[in-house]
Amino acid sequence: MQPGVTPALPPVQILGVRVDAVTYDEAIDLIGSWIQQRGPHQIATANPEFVMAAQRDPGFRRVLAAADLCVADGVGLLWAARRLGATLPERVTGSDLTPLLAQEASRRGWRLYLLGAAPGVAEQTARLLEAQNPGLRIAGVYAGSPAEAEASAIVQRVAAARPDVLLVAYGAPAQDLWIARHGAALGVPVMMGVGGAFDHLVGVQRRAPAWVQRVHLEWLFRLVTQPWRWRRQLALPRFVWAVLRQPRAVETRP
Ligand code: UDP
Repeated sequence: MQPGVTPALPPVQILGVRVDAVTYDEAIDLIGSWIQQRGPHQIATANPEFVMAAQRDPGFRRVLAAADLCVADGVGLLWAARRLGATLPERVTGSDLTPLLAQEASRRGWRLYLLGAAPGVAEQTARLLEAQNPGLRIAGVYAGSPAEAEASAIVQRVAAARPDVLLVAYGAPAQDLWIARHGAALGVPVMMGVGGAFDHLVGVQRRAPAWVQRVHLEWLFRLVTQPWRWRRQLALPRFVWAVLRQPRAVETRP
């Protein structure tokens, strides 16, 4: 991380996964510094499902460890940090960071590329962000696919558009593995996996209302509205159990 944009708090290790203790403002500042610096930078929007997937999948674990920024997208990570005697200042979700990034991008002339989601959704997201941020420069939109067979064509397409920021909505861990594998060839300074952010922004997938998020039950809302996720959401009780078995940092101090 660059001097001047170092987050106030140190990163937190949660079950072996480094989660960066940043606020939305710090995340945007880092993105700005990386766009100036150029060179590829990867951002992951982690939640407990990520952390549990990283326990089983060493490749995904390595990708998260190598990411330049790993933000706490899920409230479960804030709980785990507290439980382990550490602090994450706030939840930083891909769904909320995307419009903030678009706002900053329109002020500073950054060009965004929206990749992923069902056909038409990235395009609708781009139109929405443009309507909210006059002057926003969209370098391109493409539904694409995380399939390896299509990767080289997609990499060429994105690289030719020369965006400053690439948002990839393929879902985790596919989007994060894809960015890690192709980041060097893409030549984009900032690449972020954003999961269902485009779906949330255009309303294809309803996001939990603000009050449900406030009482930390977004995971329950998702389980009820997207019941097919139940198997993935089994990661949540496993995550809680694994964190409860970890020693707290404060307890391990002499
Ligand atoms: N998706 C995609 N291609 C695929 C699989 C998924 O573009 O082959 C998109 C899907 O349309 C959705 C997003 O990836 O927009 C995944 O959203 P989800 O809410 O599942 O994100 P996660 O919880 O995995 O971060």
